[in-house]
Amino acid sequence: MDEFDFIDTIKQKSYNQPTLLKGIGDDGAVFQQTAKDIVTVVDTFVEGVHFTRKTIPPSLIGYRCLAANISDIAAMGAKLAFYLVSIVIPNSWTHEEMVEIFGGMKKLASKYHIDLIGGDTVSGSELTISITVIGYVQNGKSRYRSLAKPKDIVFVTGTLGDAQAGLYILMNPGNYKNKEYFIKRHQQPSPRVEFAQGLTRIDRLVFNDISDGIVSEAREISQASKVDIMLHENKLPVSKYFKQFPIHLQSEWKLYGGEDFELLGTVAREDWPKVQQVAERLKLQVTEIGEVLKPSQRGQVYLKENNQIKLVNKSGYIHFRK
Ligand code: ADP
Ligand code: MG
Repeated sequence: MDEFDFIDTIKQKSYNQPTLLKGIGDDGAVFQQTAKDIVTVVDTFVEGVHFTRKTIPPSLIGYRCLAANISDIAAMGAKLAFYLVSIVIPNSWTHEEMVEIFGGMKKLASKYHIDLIGGDTVSGSELTISITVIGYVQNGKSRYRSLAKPKDIVFVTGTLGDAQAGLYILMNPGNYKNKEYFIKRHQQPSPRVEFAQGLTRIDRLVFNDISDGIVSEAREISQASKVDIMLHENKLPVSKYFKQFPIHLQSEWKLYGGEDFELLGTVAREDWPKVQQVAERLKLQVTEIGEVLKPSQRGQVYLKENNQIKLVNKSGYIHFRK
């Protein structure tokens, strides 16, 4: 099968987005300008670095790569519209496997009515998938990391550390409680699109999706907003049966383990009930885990653990404060 046949098999029969003028099939895709702001994100997945054949089947490679991008669009507060896929295919991957990869993407894309409008297909030595997603957001409603203010509540959706636990199970086969749940959290993360979209009437809201662990994401917010942030270790939400794993791994996964694709956010205290209402309607757990402290040029993150306050950085604790 040549490249043109391949593109034919991945091409959508019809498109969902009303702003699309030209999808796959020309030198470029064309969509109309609207009154909204346009958000673009891109993420690249490389075999051996971000996934291996051992820990994820082809259909979920595409799913997961697109999910990571969708999560970024959700974290900007935007509505999903289009995606483009650039793929490097080695000889060791079959045509059927490539179709499965695209099938997994399509499954997730159709859930959100996102149209595949273009891409590039080349051969090379490592399977590499780079996805670009485009979304629309109402003027001035992008959920920038720089918008956190002192006294904001810091919250997180869902539970932390599950994706790392799932990967651990795949790498260390054995008997585990809730095994399928943890594996699914690793292979098929659920970007919090509905939740982010449900909060559009709140004026100022900060989101950062958790791709690198909560400490790292909190630091990105604190540094962009030039504020200090306090996180409470005992409030960090974990799932049922998370406690079956070795204690040092639990702590590492929930603080520094990434790829849960939950949303970390900050919001003014008076808007917190609205956040809780939307989460309740969606049957999504949302937990207050800390607060924004004072303005600070350095934008530090502190972790309160058993009445001790520690100053944290991306990789670990750096020193005791009290
Ligand atoms: P060109 O030679 O003009 O760059 P190509 O032959 O690479 O175009 O691609 C033909 C069409 O197929 C274009 O619309 C392109 O966007 C689309 N396309 C190519 N590869 C992919 C892919 N992996 N996913 C989605 N669309 C693709
Ligand atoms: Mg061309």
